[in-house]
Formats: sequence, structure tokens, C-alpha cells
Amino acid sequence: MNPRTVSVLGATGSIGASTLDLVRRQPGMWKVVALTANSQADELARLAREFGAEIAVLADESCLPELRQALSGTGILAAGGPQALVDAASRPADVIVAAIVGCAGLAPTMAAIEQGRVVALANKEALVSAGEVMTAAVRRSGAVLLPVDSEHNAIFQCLAGNDPADVRSITLTASGGPFRDWPAERLATATPAEAVKHPNWSMGAKISVDSATMFNKGLELIEAHHLFPVGLDRLRIIVHPQSVVHSMVEYRDGSTLAQLGPSDMRVPIASALAWPRRMDTPCDRLDLAAIGELTFRQPDELRFPATRLAREAAEAGGAAPAVLNAANEVAVAAFLAGQIAFTRIASEVENVLSAFAPPAPACLADVLAIDSEARSRARVLTEVLA
Ligand code: NAD
Ligand code: MG
Repeated sequence: MNPRTVSVLGATGSIGASTLDLVRRQPGMWKVVALTANSQADELARLAREFGAEIAVLADESCLPELRQALSGTGILAAGGPQALVDAASRPADVIVAAIVGCAGLAPTMAAIEQGRVVALANKEALVSAGEVMTAAVRRSGAVLLPVDSEHNAIFQCLAGNDPADVRSITLTASGGPFRDWPAERLATATPAEAVKHPNWSMGAKISVDSATMFNKGLELIEAHHLFPVGLDRLRIIVHPQSVVHSMVEYRDGSTLAQLGPSDMRVPIASALAWPRRMDTPCDRLDLAAIGELTFRQPDELRFPATRLAREAAEAGGAAPAVLNAANEVAVAAFLAGQIAFTRIASEVENVLSAFAPPAPACLADVLAIDSEARSRARVLTEVLA
């Protein structure tokens, strides 16, 4: 059997590492085409050498000389800058794993979609920002979007073989993050170190903060709205601290299908990599007797307004989700840099959303322009209020 070809955008991150761990465990089954990273030249070069990639690309062109040097004599191409990233994503591959964090991953993800490829999508911010621009490109090009986000991967699995018209509701589960049980007044004092310490999952810093604010679930609500267009009124969120049930689909006959698994992203990544088949993973087996109890509760939107803001942005549609995402990215970076308090993340997003309502984007360039303007506005707010 010929090996399958794979590119990993965001190869040095948490999802990138989990993806390459699975690839590494199937020697001879995969051929790596492109690996990309932001600025980690040494780490990217190490991965490109290990996997014999065709090309390694850094978004930050200033680090390219270091990458070139680290790859000299290997025959592996080295490139840098935003266009090189898009070119790498456009290279033919059987599956492209979109695992860049933030709207920075939008242009390369769109490039892979425009080529009509199978895209394993972890980069939720790209879909949230581009929304219909991306789903229209998927329809036009015949690309296949396979959700890697654990909730959406669960829903994708629970929908298989069913008619979306029979869906009564879709419920996204949320761990509730590290501050799930904190009283409201303590949240203002939460530090970056406390926010990135997720109780169940080990992830990159940005999504860890998003889990703590519940913006992650808000972004996921918008992501689900585009991936599974059953109507916003059929999308629910429930807090499930054990992170065992990854999401559920309720049907008109009263049946609810759920996907369960260990809190290990290699499970949904494997589901996308092997789709429509299955592959082995080294993940812990689910031991329900050891877990003992699965509990569920309503989200608290007073302490965590992010899911309300995301629902409102999804209802408003057009540019609002891109504005919400951009403002959140800036606010999270400011919080991680110690510039603003934890509770300011949501208030800053709300302020930017209420002051900036551009027309709906019609193409990728429009989305990028909205993203850029929303970022500038969020940065000004951060400076004024810091
Ligand atoms: P991470 O921070 O660990 O890795 C991000 C990757 O993107 C790195 O390779 C980094 O070099 C690259 N990158 C960062 N900024 C970039 C830029 N400006 N241009 C180009 N590349 C850039 O993040 P992660 O936790 O792996 O998350 C990646 C994506 O997957 C995010 O959208 C996140 O929401 C989503 N996701 C992650 C998890 C998880 O468990 N980590 C789960 C579900 C979804
Ligand atoms: Mg998720």
C-alpha cells in the first residue's frame, strides 16, 4: 500500500505534536509533505528531519536563516513568511492538519480548502472568523472538513449514518475549566499560571485561557453552527467536569447518541487521520468503573459571559464572530502578558463588539481586514484600560 501523504500546519504545537506522535507510530504508512511553525526554527528543523518532510516553513521570516542552516544538506526545502505558509498548505497531500492557533491559520487553511483537500481542522478560530466564507469555499471546491476539536469530532461521529433533519438538539460538553468552582469575586485575581493549568487536558496556552474564560466553548458553539447547520436554537452547552462525554446528539425519537473517550486529543486526531476507517492509538482505555461518576450541570453565564457573547455574535452573524475572535485573541495575549485582569478578557471583547460592527465579509480578504481592524481596536482598549 502506498503511504498516505500528510501536511501539518502548526507542527510544533500541542495538536501538531499529538498528530506527529500518531504518524510516528505507523512507520511506512505516512509520507510527510509540509510542516510549519511560527518561529521555532530548531524544533521545526528537528521534526522535518525526523519525518523526512518535503518542506519546512516558518511564518516568521526573520527566523528563516536559522531554519535554512539547520536543514542544510538534508534536501528539505526551507521557506518563510505568510505567502510561503499558504504555498505549503496548497501542496498536494491526502490530509492537511490545520493546527495553527488563532486567525493566523486562516489563510493557509483556506488555501488547503481551495485545493479541495481533506482538512483535519483543529484551528477553530479560522472557521469562527471566516464562517460562511469558509463553508462556501468548502462547497465550491469539494474539500472535506473533518473536525478535530474533540466536541465536534464527537458530534461528527454521532451524526454518521443519520439524517440531520432528524436532529432535535446537539449538546457540546465543557469541562468548565480550572475556575469552574471559583466564586465570581475571586476570578478577577486569577493569574496566567492558574489559567493555563487545565484540570483534564494538556493544551497550548491560548486555548487553555479560552477554556478558563469559557470563550473556548463560545468559539466552539460558532464552530458547531457552521459545521452542523441544524440551527443555533438546537445547539446547547452543558458543563461536564469529567470530560468523558465529548458531546451528544439528540434525535427526534428521543435517542441521544454520545461519544465517550479518554481526555487525549490523539483520539479525535486519529479519527480524522484514519477517516472513514479507524486506527490504533496508544491512549489509555476508558475505565468507567474507575471514573465512577459522570456529572452534568448548566453553565453559569454570570461568572462566565463568554458563551452568551458568542451566542449573540453567532445570532448577529456577518462580521460579529470575526470581531469576537480577534478581540479575544488580543485580550488573551494581554492577560498572558500580565497587562489585564482575567475578568477583563470578556469585558474587552464585549466592548469591541459593541463599538465595531462592520458589514459581513464576502471573501477572505474582507475577513482578514475585519480581523485586523478589530485587533487594533482591542489593542487600543487594552492600552487605555490597562
Ligand atoms: P499551540 O500554541 O500549542 O500550537 C500552535 C501552533 O501554531 C505552533 O506550531 C505555532 O508555532 C503555530 N503558530 C502560532 N502562531 C502562529 C502564527 N502567527 N503563524 C503561523 N503559525 C503560528 O496550540 P494548540 O493547543 O496546538 O492549538 C492549535 C489549534 O487547535 C487552536 O486553534 C486550538 O484552539 C485548537 N485545539 C487545540 C486543542 C488542544 O488540545 N491543544 C484541542 C482542540 C482544539
Ligand atoms: Mg474542544
